Amino acid sequence: MSITEMLSTHRPTLPQEVSARLDDLLAHAAGTVAFYMRLREQKGRDLAWTDFPVITKKWFIDNLDDMLSNRYSDYAVSHSPKSAGSPKTLIHEFTSGSSGYPLRCYKTLQERTRLALSLHKKRAAIYREFSTDKMFGFIHNTEFESNSYIDSLGNLSEENIGKVLTYLRDVVRPAVLHGNTMVLVYYSDYINKHDFDLGSWRVEFIESVSESISDEQKRHVEECFRTTVYDCYGCLECYNIAYDCCFHNLHLNENVLVEIIDPNTGEEITESETEGEVVLTSLVNRAQPFIRYKTGDLAYLSDSASCPCGNPARVIHLSGRRKVDYIKLLYATENSKLTICGYDIFATVMYRLATGRCDYVSWYNVIQKELDLFEVLYIKKNNFSDLFFTLFVRYAEEELGGPARFEFVEKDEQEVLLINRKNRVFRSLLQND
Ligand SMILES: [Zn+2]
Repeated sequence: MSITEMLSTHRPTLPQEVSARLDDLLAHAAGTVAFYMRLREQKGRDLAWTDFPVITKKWFIDNLDDMLSNRYSDYAVSHSPKSAGSPKTLIHEFTSGSSGYPLRCYKTLQERTRLALSLHKKRAAIYREFSTDKMFGFIHNTEFESNSYIDSLGNLSEENIGKVLTYLRDVVRPAVLHGNTMVLVYYSDYINKHDFDLGSWRVEFIESVSESISDEQKRHVEECFRTTVYDCYGCLECYNIAYDCCFHNLHLNENVLVEIIDPNTGEEITESETEGEVVLTSLVNRAQPFIRYKTGDLAYLSDSASCPCGNPARVIHLSGRRKVDYIKLLYATENSKLTICGYDIFATVMYRLATGRCDYVSWYNVIQKELDLFEVLYIKKNNFSDLFFTLFVRYAEEELGGPARFEFVEKDEQEVLLINRKNRVFRSLLQND
């Protein structure tokens, strides 16, 4: 698969300020990122916007070293801003990716602060007193204490949901909830079925992330939690891409440039208001620039002229096809007290591999075929080692809490493109449709 799937013939028309920021980013990339430096050398001239190829996640992962700016090579690397010793620190974050592409992300402390501040403003526009300590995350929550999957937020059994809800109502009383559709629907179903009394606990709003949410699901969650749901579209690479305004239009963030391309022809179709693949450029990320980077999502853009909120930023409409089929994400087990999303288990396995410097695959998917039999599909990276098999089995058995059998099946990129159209990281053949 080549990286130049599309060469658009023109640069998008941008407000002057955005245009200047984009020029600055492109000059930075052409001057300090090995891949773009070589591209400039080959062209024998400065790079124009149309010289920048569209980059797939797979390609980005395989060529990561070439995609980092050399300006930060003397920076220390830390996993959290809290443990950063000096301002010259890159924060390393890792996503195992909902479609199975595990990616390492590096940001300077400044970039991270800027991206986080932008997201904060969107939240504060909905609830003026917003602060992160008033928000409870059902996902990406590193503070919630649990001993095993049984009492973790990942366990969506009724028993555990009841416990978590009681704890939220009586102890934490968060003003804002943050979660993906699957979790929010499970919790709402529980409230509805058991007539769970929220008492005087008041939720100012719910931030829905990671998956698209249908109008019907949104209404259900809003009724059960007696609040309003706001959509947030983002990614670990650059945090917020778009956020719902008070009229529930998903306006693009001021720090990104989004293009839409035809998935079949590779043609840029941003202006056509027809659905295509989302191509992202972040105007903030410098340590690891994302320029014309394919997110793997499908959407179309529309003008915001009709939105009464007055935000001139365009509105993105994410496709329903992006919706995760959550039944297939549930891991089937004999333990009736356990209803875990299989994605969580195998994302943890990948995280442990990557943080233990055993980052050997550029894509993976897991299929549960029997209660204790898992098929692991993967694409090797150049540095692949057989240690992957040993460690994957060891970590997976630890996360699953018992012995299991694994069948490893190597795939090529063409096959994976077909698989990814239908599936997400994990599916279980034992779940009913
Ligand atoms: Zn609006």
